[in-house]
Parts: sequence; structure tokens; C-alpha cells
Amino acid sequence: MVLKCLDIQGFKSFPDRTHIEFNRGITAVVGPNGSGKSNISDAIRWVLGEQSSKTLRGSKMEDVVFAGAGNRRAMGSAEVSLTIDNTDGGLRTEYSEVTVTRRYYRSGESEFFINRKLVRLRDIHELFMDTGLGRDGYSMIGQGKIDEILSVKSEERREVFDEAAGISKYRYRREEAQRRLADAQENLTRIGDIIAELESRLGPLQKEAEKERRYNALRSELRGLEVSMIMLTLDGMNDRLTAARAAAETLASDLEACHVHADELSARADDLMRQTAELQHEIEELRAASRQSEMEASRAESDIALLSAELEHNARDWERIGREREDQEKRQRETEEKIAAAEQQYQELLGAEEEKRRLAAEIEEGRSKLRQESESLAAKR
Ligand code: ATP
Repeated sequence: MVLKCLDIQGFKSFPDRTHIEFNRGITAVVGPNGSGKSNISDAIRWVLGEQSSKTLRGSKMEDVVFAGAGNRRAMGSAEVSLTIDNTDGGLRTEYSEVTVTRRYYRSGESEFFINRKLVRLRDIHELFMDTGLGRDGYSMIGQGKIDEILSVKSEERREVFDEAAGISKYRYRREEAQRRLADAQENLTRIGDIIAELESRLGPLQKEAEKERRYNALRSELRGLEVSMIMLTLDGMNDRLTAARAAAETLASDLEACHVHADELSARADDLMRQTAELQHEIEELRAASRQSEMEASRAESDIALLSAELEHNARDWERIGREREDQEKRQRETEEKIAAAEQQYQELLGAEEEKRRLAAEIEEGRSKLRQESESLAAKR
């Protein structure tokens, strides 16, 4: 079995898609410390189904996704594909070239593919079992791993040698067979329980079956008796049938008469229908006339209401004008009284003035007399 190539993207220190070809012979990866050489073998271990983040030199599975470096942002998923040349049939599959792919999302979802077909992790394990390349394979020996293998317990070390000897496949199958045997044993126990349960119900079921048999015998006897009874009644029924036929003939002639009567009734019904239609038409016309009258009445009512309102208004005006006329007459009377009083006052003033004039004339007459007397006196002197 020969590795052909490895494709890495988003895995640990490989944000960009990286393609590594493994040519015939030895492929060596050379680089300074911390440049990511071991990340390549981690990628191979991971794509083959490694579940331990510690083995992958991380603390949790999410650590395998590129976490960002420099100005490169962290990625959301990691994907690794390993392509194997299977022309020698090392892998138990019909394909001459097998590509296994593992994809992991930060959300924790994991997907496995064999030749781009979605499979389970278990399918990957079974594919590489006993090839030395699987989960417990010895083909990948990390830094310090030899020391670790030598120092572990003999039981754990045996797993490495089992894998190398190609017997882990049989151990796996034996464990699988033992598990299936245990399942079958459990199923047998369950079936035994069911049989015991059914046996306990067998007694009452037998009694019920006996009852059923007796019921069936009695029922067939009853059927026989019923048939005899039907035969006996059949004779009586023949006589009844003749009588029934005669009655049927009478009924048929009655029916004929009924048909004639029905035709007459039908003709009358048609006539009534026609009359009803005419009446309906008249009713419609009367309804229309009534609607017209109603409309006119309502128009007259609204005219009456209008005229009543006008009448009321005029009555109110009439009352108001009456009141105004009374006020006017009252004011006129008062003015006439005032004029009469003023005239009387004027006449009195005229009398007084006449009196004053008469007095003035008397005074003037007296004064001219005095003046004449004074002149005559003066002339005498
Ligand atoms: P050494 O020879 O010392 O063992 P190396 O060349 O094998 O070193 P690795 O141990 O494979 O190098 O790689 C370590 C580098 O990978 C470190 O620089 C580390 O920052 C980087 N690295 C590991 N995991 C991630 C990750 N999830 N995201 C980004 N970089 C990572």
C-alpha cells in the first residue's frame, strides 16, 4: 500500500490549501523548529480517525482548526484528504485508489468520507484495520513514541504487536461475535419469558375453545330448525301471495284512478300557478304604486312641515310687531303729553311777556309824562 498524496486546508498551521505528493521512495519534510512539520503527521493521524486531542498535541478537538496567525483570521473548519494507491488490494475495497477525507467544523460537527461518499468513523477504522495504518497502527511513530511503547503495560504493548502481526482484525471480529452472542443470549431469555407468559394463558384459552365448539354445534342445530320453520311457513305464504296478487290488482286500478285524478290536480295546479303569477304581477304593480304614493306623501309631509315652520315664524313676527306697535303708541302718547306741557308752558311764558310789555309801556308812558311835566316846568321857570 502506497500513500499518493495529502491535501490539507484549515488544519492547524495550514490555512491555505496545501497539496503534498508522496513519490516512490522516501519523502522527507525538512524545516526549522516550530515550522509545522509534525502538523503534517498529525493531519495523517487525524484523517485516519484519531479521536484523542492529546495525541494530536492539543487540549480539545477544536485546536486542530487554524486559529489565526499574523493578519490571517481564524477559520471555521478544517479538512484533510489522504489518497492511497490500492492497486495491491491492501485495503478491503474494490477501488484501486482510495481517498479518505475528514472535515471538522468549530461547532463540533465531524464528517468522514471515503471517495467523497459520506461514511461513519467506524467504516474508516474497519477499512484500515490490520494495515498498520489505522487508529492503533504502528506505522506512525511520533517523537518520543518508541520510549512510550517500551514503558507501557504489557497488555497495551500487546495491541501494537497484534496490529503488526495482523491479528487485531480477528480480535475485533471475535469481540464483535461475542457481543452479538451476548445479544442473542439476551433475546433467547426474552423469548423464554414470552413462552412462559403464553403457557400461563393456555388453560383459560382451552376453556374458551371448548365454549366456542359448543356454541358452533348449537348454532348449526338452530340453523336446521330455522330452515324447517321456513319450509312450513312457505306453504301458508303461497295462499297469502295469491290474496296479495288480487289486492295488488285492485290497488293497480286504484292507482290508475289516482293517476287520472293526479293529472286533473296537476292541470288545476298549473292554472293556479298561472293565476298566482298574474296576481303576483298585480301585487308588484300595486307595490310600485304604493311606493310612489308613499314618496309623494312623504314629500307632502315635508312641505307641510316647512309651511308649519314658516307659519310659526310669521306668528312670532306678528307678536313681535304687535309689541313694538304698543311700545310705539306708548312713546307717542308720552311725546304728545310732553308737547302739550311745553305748549302750556309756552302760553304761560307768552302771557308773562305780554304782562311785562304792558308794564314797560306803562313805565314808558309814565316816564314821558314825567318828562313832559319836567319840560313844562322848565319852560315855566
Ligand atoms: P518541532 O520540530 O519543534 O516539533 P515542528 O516543525 O514539528 O516543530 P509543529 O509542532 O508541527 O512544528 O508546529 C507548531 C506550529 O504550528 C506552531 O507555530 C503553532 O503556532 C502552529 N499551530 C499549531 N496549531 C495551530 C492552529 N490551530 N492554528 C494556527 N497555528 C497552529
